[in-house]
Amino acid sequence: MTVEMIFVGTELLLGNIVNTNGQFLSEQCAALGLPVYYQTVVGDNEERLSAVIETAFSRSDVVLLCGGLGPTEDDLTKEVCARTMGIPLTEHPEARAELDAFMSRLNVVITENNYKQAMAPVGAVYADQLPDEKKAGDGRGGKGVENDGDENEAGSGEGGRKSVAADRCLLLRNPNGTAPGLLMEKNGKTAILLPGPPNEMKPMFLDQVKPYLVKKSGQVFLSAVVKICGVGESSVETRVLDLVDSQTNPTIATYAKTGEVHIRVTASGKTGEEAQKLIKPCVKELKKRFGDDVYTAKPEVSLEMAVVKLLNKYGLTITTAESCTGGMVAARLVGVPGVSDVFSEGFVTYSNKAKRKFLDVSKTTLKKYTAVSAETAKEMAIGGVLANDSDMCVSVTGLAGPDGATPEIPLGRVYIGCCLKGKTVVKEYNFTGSREKIREMAASAALDLARRCILEQCKGK
Ligand code: ATP
Ligand code: MG
Repeated sequence: MTVEMIFVGTELLLGNIVNTNGQFLSEQCAALGLPVYYQTVVGDNEERLSAVIETAFSRSDVVLLCGGLGPTEDDLTKEVCARTMGIPLTEHPEARAELDAFMSRLNVVITENNYKQAMAPVGAVYADQLPDEKKAGDGRGGKGVENDGDENEAGSGEGGRKSVAADRCLLLRNPNGTAPGLLMEKNGKTAILLPGPPNEMKPMFLDQVKPYLVKKSGQVFLSAVVKICGVGESSVETRVLDLVDSQTNPTIATYAKTGEVHIRVTASGKTGEEAQKLIKPCVKELKKRFGDDVYTAKPEVSLEMAVVKLLNKYGLTITTAESCTGGMVAARLVGVPGVSDVFSEGFVTYSNKAKRKFLDVSKTTLKKYTAVSAETAKEMAIGGVLANDSDMCVSVTGLAGPDGATPEIPLGRVYIGCCLKGKTVVKEYNFTGSREKIREMAASAALDLARRCILEQCKGK
């Protein structure tokens, strides 16, 4: 089953808005392992839109159309798509009532052109009013295994759904706007129409379209995400290029995240076990290649969760001593439920005075080497351990900018220290980007260094 996307809007062609919907839908389809070979952006023009739809159906099974479902003259996606597919439209009483209710909640006077949005293919029903579709659209889209093996799949033609399964039209509810989405099936092809505003399109896709696509593909998709810290994206890519090129199931794709690189491994199979079997050797190979640079292979596990897990495993407590990250490392740790067993106190010591007062960094060190130095990071880490009587402390001091760079200390220079069981390591980093980005990267690097120190000193002991 191939999927193709059409993004409708002259403002996209003119560069007035960025096609973020394209990125979102592409990422979603890739995660589901659905092949997408084409995407088109087309303006609000009847003829060209119709031609683009024809072309899309000539080479793909499912066409996602995004934008142009609104009430104005230039919103013509539904009308053109229905016409191109040979599907007549009529006013849908419930869609009209929904529209009235939505507008009255907003206290907006409805105008006649608004009712354009209540037009739907003859015989269209709300997707959640179909017994089986209701199940498909129950919002479980985020889970790893998405198909429950239910035999009553869309298009199976079983029982009372026969009349709609063959050639059907479904309205998709839009709790965040006025235009309902639309799903039209004809002659084995499916058009799925989504509103343009991302806050309307995303929940509609996740809750109602994604489960439909999963069921329709008749496959179970499973993903593992091998998450890597401390290695650049291009280096990761180079080291997995042979796997990416040679594999089709599972598919392997790399994504750069702030301070991390993720490798998503997605497999499809008739059952969860079959997909799992395909993923396993690939994840094993990636772990072998990247060793301790990998902190998890589970999509739901974050770097801070991995750190907290290790602290728990080895019965260690941690303290944070932060300057330029201003508590970001502590905040990320505290975001992990149950962290209180391993974390009780963190320090934000932004000024030199605070570094001396709370962490006992020596006046001489600050004067001789300055606050942004390996020496200061080291004393901060040791000071944190002593001040809190914890097993370890991770420290961060650096220059996040945008001002303050000197020939000796460039913008983005950060020193991160980690003191564990009397041994202290300090690493120098040179990050780039905005102040925010530098601080985020520094926080990730601090968590990663803590993780590595624990592994180095505790693993296998
Ligand atoms: P509306 O009812 O708001 O008119 P619509 O479904 O007709 O919704 P459009 O008119 O095409 O959608 O776009 C409305 C707004 O949605 C745009 O101004 C833009 O802010 C956003 N939008 C549309 N398409 C995209 C896209 N591909 N990526 C990101 N944002 C988009
Ligand atoms: Mg519009």
